[in-house]
Parts: sequence; C-alpha cells; structure tokens
Amino acid sequence: KGPDPDLLPIAERMATVKHKILVLSGKGGVGKSTFSAQLSFALAAMDYQVGLLDIDICGPSIPKMLGLEGQDIHQSNLGWSPCYVESNLGVMSIGFMLPNPDEAVVWRGPRKNSLIKQFVKDVYWGELDYLVVDAPPGTSDEHISIVQYLLETGIDGAIIVTTPQQVSLIDVRKEISFCKKVGINILGVVENMSGLCQPLSDVKFLKPSETGQPSDVTEWALQYMKEKAPELLNLMAYSEVFDSSGGGAMKMCQEMGIRFLGKVPLDPQLCKAAEQGKSCFEDQKCTASAAALKSIIDEL
Ligand code: ADP
Repeated sequence: KGPDPDLLPIAERMATVKHKILVLSGKGGVGKSTFSAQLSFALAAMDYQVGLLDIDICGPSIPKMLGLEGQDIHQSNLGWSPCYVESNLGVMSIGFMLPNPDEAVVWRGPRKNSLIKQFVKDVYWGELDYLVVDAPPGTSDEHISIVQYLLETGIDGAIIVTTPQQVSLIDVRKEISFCKKVGINILGVVENMSGLCQPLSDVKFLKPSETGQPSDVTEWALQYMKEKAPELLNLMAYSEVFDSSGGGAMKMCQEMGIRFLGKVPLDPQLCKAAEQGKSCFEDQKCTASAAALKSIIDEL
C-alpha cells in the first residue's frame, strides 16, 4: 500500500510545528482539559509559540477554559485561523463552529475523523514550538484518527491525566495499553485532584448537630482563631477526597514502568480560573495547584 495522499498536505502543515503533545484520560471529568489549558497558558508565559487543538468534538470545553467563548474562526487563503488568547497562544476547537453551544453534536466516526483531519490539515498555525492536543476521554474514533495523523508527522508523546482512585486508574491502564498498541511514547501520568487543598481562611466551619443539619459557625471560628492564634489563618487545609489507599497513580506507574509526573491537588482556585478562562499562574492565591502544575511542566 502506497502512502496515504492525504498525509502529504498534513506533513507540510505540521512541518512548522516543533513539538506535539497529546493529552489523554481514561475517564471524563478528571481534569484533562484543565491540564491542557493550563499547560498551554504556562508554555505561552514562557514565551513559546503555542497552539491548543481541542478534538473533544462532543464536549469541547477548551474555548471556555481559555476565555474565548463565543468567538468565531476565520478563513483566509492560508487556511482556518485559530482564535488567539495572546499573539503566541492560538486555539482551535469545534466549539467555535457551533451555532448553538447547547446543541449536541451527534456524529458518527467518519464525520469526526474528517473534522480532525481538517483540523490538522487546514489550520494555519504558523511556526509553533508546541501543539497541545486535548483529546476526549477513552480510546475511540477521535483517538485513532489523531494518532494516525500525528504519528506520520512525528509526535513527542502523550500525557495521561487521572484521579487517584481505582475506578479512574483502571481506565488509565487501558489508555496506556492504547498508547503502546499504536506506538505512542508516554511522556508520563499526572494525578489530578489528589486531595483538597485550600487556605484555612477559605474553609467553612460546621458544628455537628444531633438533630440534623450542622450549623455554620465559620464567623465564630475565624474570629476565635484571629484572637487566639492568628498564625493558624496562614495555614492550608488539606484532605484526601478520593480513596488513594491503593497507592494512586504513582504506584500504578511504578508497576507499569511509566513515568509519574506528579500530583495536582483539588484546588477551588484552579476551578475558578478554569471557569473564568484564565491562567492559574496569574492569581497569587492559586498557590497549591499552580505550584504543582508548574513543577510538572518544568519536569517535562
Ligand atoms: P476532563 O477534561 O477530564 O473532562 P475537566 O478539565 O473539564 O475534565 O475538569 C472537570 C471539572 O473539574 C472542571 O470544572 C474543572 O475546572 C475542575 N477541575 C479540574 N481539575 C481541578 C483541580 N485540580 N482542582 C479543582 N477543580 C478542578
């Protein structure tokens, strides 16, 4: 079988992209898009030229997470123009093409494949240091398509995002098996939502009651601490939300001989940054998750 003629223009288009990173997860809702968005913000802040391609066709959340909701894609004689957060951070997503964001995209595999092919062939990114590709959860049509196109033109590898509990890790093992089967290098696994971490001053204090609803005593507790031990208010509160007694992603990585990239705590400030379409690295308060993400990105 000769070379796929479609791959030639893809190769030409991708020739201006130095590094390509695929972000994967076994399950939805584990923070894959949040990680892709913050990775892109961080690389752009390091003055790299960055493109973020969202191929989560049925649930594109990247436009919102990058603060680009409601924007349209423009076409020029060079191809489709990404929407830009900054001059060095361009984004492409089906979310920019939907007339009504509430409408479901009900497409079979071939139609998804053809849009993904257009995304890699027809988008004019210009010179890019990094192309970050946010894939949907699982290992379905979209993955097979993107892998086919990117493998031909060279891909650095995949980062897999998971939460610590077994139900998520079971699916990560499948994601790892998928990467091995198709020949994609695994850059590493990120454990997201590893415990809840927030400043004590943001915590709600509840007094248990035998009769029913606990009562909110936050005002009293904060006032008490302010008077008796104000240094307590500088502390962070941390609690394990998901069960990680099985050793979490780190243990799984050790068992499977995969690189563990690090843990990112559940952090209300990171969620807020994602809701507002902002970088978590700008906000002084967003320390716990931002510091963790930064060290993971520096490790890459
Ligand atoms: P996925 O892409 O895996 O479906 P998302 O990135 O959309 O998951 O994340 C699901 C929700 O969880 C979003 O509202 C996101 O802002 C939030 N979230 C993700 N990671 C964290 C975290 N470490 N701390 C707090 N909220 C988070």
